[in-house]
Amino acid sequence: MITLKSSRELELMREAGRLVAQAHKIIREMVQPGVRTKSIDSEVESFFRKHNATPLFKGVPGKVPYPASTCISINEQVVHGIPGERELCEGDIVSVDTACRLNGWCGDAAWTYAVGQIDHEKQKLMQVGERNLWLAIDHLCKFQRWSQVAGLMEREVHKAGFSVVEQFVGHGIGREMHEDPQVPNFVSPQLRRHDFRLEPGLVIAIEPMVNSGTKNVRVSKSDQWTVTTKDNRPSVHFEHTVAITSTGPVILTRLDD
Ligand code: MG
Repeated sequence: MITLKSSRELELMREAGRLVAQAHKIIREMVQPGVRTKSIDSEVESFFRKHNATPLFKGVPGKVPYPASTCISINEQVVHGIPGERELCEGDIVSVDTACRLNGWCGDAAWTYAVGQIDHEKQKLMQVGERNLWLAIDHLCKFQRWSQVAGLMEREVHKAGFSVVEQFVGHGIGREMHEDPQVPNFVSPQLRRHDFRLEPGLVIAIEPMVNSGTKNVRVSKSDQWTVTTKDNRPSVHFEHTVAITSTGPVILTRLDD
């Protein structure tokens, strides 16, 4: 069931979202060759705790509970990469996803960052992925139903010669990080059955995942979490928590201008 949020609730979600945005500012500044992914994770975790917020990824159930406060996915890793000893290298792209709960309300955002100079394929992939998120946000209040936005997103990715990950989708968000509805970045028979109206009070995490090669992915057998592309070509991930209001879309996980 989709729960619409009141304007007071949106103000509280904005507080949580702002904290997530500030965490991404820390992440952006830390992304450099030689930095261990676990150092980024521990900075984010202490930042949330310092502000009395709960990191939401830690303990998410799976074959093993998720062990960290961020997901850090490098190059061919799509999502759910576990931070550890690995050091970022010049030429990598690194997707960092994190979420927190503050005063009972959640915020969730992901971004792909370049480590130093990256090659042309990765540059184009990052541009197309980021543009895909902005395209969705721009059309949120122009269309009646999500399937129209998803169709637009999917077409843009295909036009660029890339593919849309189908195994993972965006989601409603509020008191819980994952609420109804599911928010896919492509159109499918499933979406036609579970399509939803774009109306004021709706809050969704929109998170296109775009692959350079095949859309197919696999989950690491060794850690049970890390998702990589099947062809080991690179992938990007851009996510904001966005509310629909009567005056337009509001990005909850962005810094104040
Ligand atoms: Mg999310």
